Amino acid sequence: MKPLWRNKGGNRMNNLAEYICFHGIRDFSVLKEYQEEMKDITKMSGEEIVQYQDKALKDLLDYVYERNTYYRSELDKIGYRPDGKLTKQVFEKLRLTTRETISTERDILRCVEKEDILHVHTSTGTSGAKSNYIMYTVNDLYGSDLLPKMGDLFELKRTDVVAIALPYEMSSAGQSFQRVVQIGYGATVLPVGKGGAYSEPKKAIQLMKDMDCNVLFSSPSYTVELMRAAEEEGIDLLNDLKIDQIWLTGEGCSDAFRKKIEKKWEADARFYYGSLECGAIGIECKEKNGYHIPISHIYLEIIDPETGEVLEDGEVGEIVVTVLLKEGTPLIRYRTQDLGFLDPQTCDCGIELKKLFLRGRKIDQIEIDGNAYAPIYVEEMLMRQEEVGENYYINVYPQYAEIVIELSSDTTYYEGIEEVISSKVEFACGIPNKIVVKERIPYVGKKAKRVNYIKEE
Ligand SMILES: [Zn+2]
Repeated sequence: MKPLWRNKGGNRMNNLAEYICFHGIRDFSVLKEYQEEMKDITKMSGEEIVQYQDKALKDLLDYVYERNTYYRSELDKIGYRPDGKLTKQVFEKLRLTTRETISTERDILRCVEKEDILHVHTSTGTSGAKSNYIMYTVNDLYGSDLLPKMGDLFELKRTDVVAIALPYEMSSAGQSFQRVVQIGYGATVLPVGKGGAYSEPKKAIQLMKDMDCNVLFSSPSYTVELMRAAEEEGIDLLNDLKIDQIWLTGEGCSDAFRKKIEKKWEADARFYYGSLECGAIGIECKEKNGYHIPISHIYLEIIDPETGEVLEDGEVGEIVVTVLLKEGTPLIRYRTQDLGFLDPQTCDCGIELKKLFLRGRKIDQIEIDGNAYAPIYVEEMLMRQEEVGENYYINVYPQYAEIVIELSSDTTYYEGIEEVISSKVEFACGIPNKIVVKERIPYVGKKAKRVNYIKEE
């Protein structure tokens, strides 16, 4: 018997989501129109994408104008009228939303009555700011996320067994992937979490083995932790486990790090870029060269972080996201503090969705002696060295970076190896550094803190 959420034709789009979405608080006229044509966003032409996004933006602004006093006053300031037309010029005048906008007055962006909130997530607040609260209606949980089809970009089978090794408590990561995997695709979920009271890595890896798990969602650093647990338990990554697909998310990750993970697991590893506030922002395709933007949910701009001016494709700036289909806490022109640029060229995979390339976080650049180094680039160069293992962290001193590493399993320590690696890394990315080799770097929990700033007396 087909479950409730399988619709006619065996499409993965689900009836439950459709029902919830079209009986929710917002009138998703744009989604209805788009849904009736059964559009797969990865098959839409550039022109169709622009049309869809124009309509979706207008729908969203009308919704928040009606329901939220903060947004209404900001829209009034730019002369927005619900009965008028929306142009890009007008939209780009709208005030940017920052982390502070949400965290100083936590309810400020809420667009629904309290009784319509089903669920609240909080961000981890790693950047020193207060954590943000994001409210979910039933539609935010089970409707709009599950409706749009993403073709080959993100495809799971019903027979897949998927371990979700991401945080389940407070954060949205574990639960939102679970909903998409389970309800959107009908695959089996192993909610192994990320080292909470009931989810030690050893228990997780054992469950993955016993249940013939073949897909893993995790952060780069926790994937390494799972590898260790497997080693300690005598579970062979290749013979006892059958992982063929890994989705890495939650932390920045270099291509070289990915290649190390792929080699160890003999699996295809792709990146998924998203945040608590915005959900999915970018998904890598098979080419593994840039993120396609799930345009059904996300309208993306790149701005000059100093002036706020919208930049052209190809120019590096701060990523600003508008979440198109949210009811509870819609975010409009939200500053992610991540840096990147857009590439409008059609990808080799054939998908016409623009691609996003990440360039690290604005606030995380390593500054030494007046020069800035992107941590992701330093990681890339570090991971390309065959002597270097998967785990590392960097202590930044005013004159140099101390890079603490483990050696790769194929490397035996010898005296002077630190200088050898140090000069290779400095040659590759210019960063003045000292290498410290440790036998084992313990997992630090939560998000792995890769870069620490050391103040010298
Ligand atoms: Zn592609």
